[in-house]
This record gives sequence, C-alpha cells and structure tokens, in this order.
Amino acid sequence: MALHKDFESLLFSEEQIKTRIAEMAAQIDIDYKGKTPLLIGVLKGSFIFMSDLMRAMKIECTVDFLAVSSYGTKSETSGQVRLLKDINENIEGRDVIVVEDILDSGITLSYIMKLLSMRRPASIKLCTLLDKPERRRVQVDIHYRGFEVPDAFVVGYGFDFAEKYRNVPYIGILKPSLYAR
Ligand code: 5GP
Repeated sequence: MALHKDFESLLFSEEQIKTRIAEMAAQIDIDYKGKTPLLIGVLKGSFIFMSDLMRAMKIECTVDFLAVSSYGTKSETSGQVRLLKDINENIEGRDVIVVEDILDSGITLSYIMKLLSMRRPASIKLCTLLDKPERRRVQVDIHYRGFEVPDAFVVGYGFDFAEKYRNVPYIGILKPSLYAR
C-alpha cells in the first residue's frame, strides 16, 4: 500500500495499531474486572482510538466525550486550556478512564485530570495512544500507553493537521514542508 503523498514516513501501520490496542484492552479488562468503567474521550483526536479500544474490550463499559481547546498556534500549546464541551454524565463514584490521543506538553491532560478529579470519581486513570515525552512541560501520570513517539508532528488515525488526515488508517509523520512550526 502506498503511503499518503503528504506523509514523510510511516510510524505505525494499521496492523501495529490494532495489535497494540488489543493488548491495552486486555489489560483494562483485567484491571476493571467486575466493574463498569466510564471511558471519557477527549475530542476530536481520540474518537477513532476510542471506538477501536472500546470494541476490543470485553468488559461492560460506558462512554462520554469532552472537548477542550488550548490557545496558541496549531503545533504549540500556549498553556491556557478552555473547556468547549463538558461530559453529560455525573462521574461521582464512577471508575473513569480518560482516553486521549497524545500526551505532548501535558498541559491539556493535567487540566482535564484536575477538572474531573474534583467531581469525586471512585478512581481516575489515563489511557493515551501516543506519548511524546521529549516535549513534556507538566508531569502527568500515564496508566495505559500505546506507543512512545519522537518529537515530530504526527497525523493519521484521528490525528489531524488543519482538520485533514484523521481518516487515514495509519499514523505517520507529516512532511515538514506542509507546516511551519
Ligand atoms: P498537550 O497539552 O499535551 O501539549 O497537547 C495535546 C494535544 O495537542 C493533543 O490532544 C493533540 O490535539 C495536539 N498534538 C500534540 N502533538 C501532536 C501531533 O504530533 N500531531 C497532532 N495532530 N496533534 C498533536
């Protein structure tokens, strides 16, 4: 299969993503046996990962979504986070798993984890498909991590650039000529 013309290189194939998600789902099944966790997806980037992760899980679970935006340019977080869409569910007493596409500076996730923790869930854990540790500015605990990635701008499998490439079924690095950091 030919790589998308705007991609410089492939990072994770469809097959690699599927295999890793099956492993993560199996671990969640074990850790939450007998419980009904609430998976909270961070829009928009996580929706494809969420749908594959949920379907790979065998235990009962429910799902909700929130949306945030951070001020700043597209590829650099400014440090200020704004809640655009809240979850619908009351999470008091629930076992919450926050499902995110990528942990970069950590600013978005630390805001979300703090916000949700204040609502007294029984437990709260973080599941991220990708982790870009080189860029971390705020420490955030990760409980389930798909893959570690280098400091490059990734697209595909839910990850966009200017809203494009989300439907590409694999993850790759965008040609640097297509964006300016
Ligand atoms: P953080 O607050 O951790 O810096 O920001 C995380 C958010 O930045 C992610 O949810 C994602 O929307 C965006 N982001 C960070 N790195 C990348 C990347 O390499 N590619 C894409 N498409 N988005 C990214």
